[in-house]
Amino acid sequence: MPTTSPQEGRTALVEDLMERFPHIPREAVIKEDLLRGGMAFDDSALSDTADEASGDVKPKSYFIFSFDHRTLPELGEAALRRPPEEIVLTGGAYDLRRTVVSVRVNPDSPYRVRAGEDGSLGLYLDGQRIADVGLPPMPDYYRHTLANGKSVMEVAPTIQWGYLIYLTVFRVCQYFGAKEECQYCDINHNWRQHKAAGRPYTGVKPVEEVLEGLQIIADHDTLGASRAYTLTGGSITSQVQGKDEADFYGMYAKAIEERFPGRWTGKVVAQALPKADVQRFHDYGIKIYHPNFEVWDKRLFELHCPGKERYVGREEWHRRILDSRDVFGARNVIPNFVAGIEMAEPFGFKTVDEAIASTTEGLDFFMGNGITPRFTTWCPEPTTPLGRTNPAGAPLEYHIRLLEAYRDAMERHGLSSPPGYGPPGAGNAVFSVSSFMDTLPADATIEANAETAESAKGVQGAQSVRA
Ligand code: SF4
Repeated sequence: MPTTSPQEGRTALVEDLMERFPHIPREAVIKEDLLRGGMAFDDSALSDTADEASGDVKPKSYFIFSFDHRTLPELGEAALRRPPEEIVLTGGAYDLRRTVVSVRVNPDSPYRVRAGEDGSLGLYLDGQRIADVGLPPMPDYYRHTLANGKSVMEVAPTIQWGYLIYLTVFRVCQYFGAKEECQYCDINHNWRQHKAAGRPYTGVKPVEEVLEGLQIIADHDTLGASRAYTLTGGSITSQVQGKDEADFYGMYAKAIEERFPGRWTGKVVAQALPKADVQRFHDYGIKIYHPNFEVWDKRLFELHCPGKERYVGREEWHRRILDSRDVFGARNVIPNFVAGIEMAEPFGFKTVDEAIASTTEGLDFFMGNGITPRFTTWCPEPTTPLGRTNPAGAPLEYHIRLLEAYRDAMERHGLSSPPGYGPPGAGNAVFSVSSFMDTLPADATIEANAETAESAKGVQGAQSVRA
């Protein structure tokens, strides 16, 4: 354990938690802190160009939400000179194993990415270098455009170090306004700010464009790093292009599976729909269903997800999640929750103990029914109601104890890491928006080990381009 003497600021908090929770990987402590509070970039660590297709580094694609701590106009140069999609941390003061972290930009963060005296990039905390930083290389497929000139990054961006193709095919949500939008979500604002900045940001992606983008990936992802695609976007409470939610998102899956049968594992993030609609997702070729439950506590669900409460209701939402096991199998129903909003002012739990107890109750509910939830780490985006009142997010201790509670619950219920997330274990994981996969045992399942071997091929190839 390195010491900074005298210990101060965030370093002291981080090292205190590493000492108190030695069974949680150090990598996860740093990663959670970066995800909840963001990171700053020196000019030396940013791309020299605003052109998203040139340069050596894969730029941040803004694949669904902004996941930033400032708006684009506030970020200015830091947004124009595209920050990377992700960074990978290794070595340094905490001897970190390879750790992939999604980039959430915060110019005021005590974490800063910059070049050291020898020119190599490092992550600095409170001014001390704590890890080496690798940047994702620009994938070949990002250098190609569709026939209409759109970039692959706009139509079919990849995240998780190239593992997952993220297809936000509907860039806005029909839960609209203060009485319906989830209080932590900036999907509608993110769409507006990209339009205002003159960036290409297609509201509804035509199926043909998605297929064309995927064809470019299929042709140029020669290492086979991409393993899955996610179809998602805003909730559809009425119709889009004359289709309800199941048929709208399902039509993309059908087209993808007809053109590229079995090439990627198809996933959909959608509302908890009635079983007949869920069946249609499955019939269209989707393999994994994410009907996100967002937050477990009844009162907080009603307050933080007013649209979902009004249109469906929490109990019905949960019943539909359980029902969808009959269609996909329990293993392939993976509802997400937004880790941290349990503690958001003014309505959230006041203590970490209460928040962990509540979320553990939810984990036991789902895991006791064979379903393995997963979570993303809350980014308090500034244009959301909860982001405005909680700019620092949830306490780091909450996030560390959640990792502990999650792993314990998995053991209690005899479950292993969910499918479709790449390999588990510190040093192996590629899932970038939470460290739950970094915290799970490395040898959780044979299936995951097979994924590790495949994924490693792509990652090693990628690293050699720019370490
Ligand atoms: S349902 Fe809620 S979280 Fe999902 S896109 Fe709409 S507002 Fe955002």
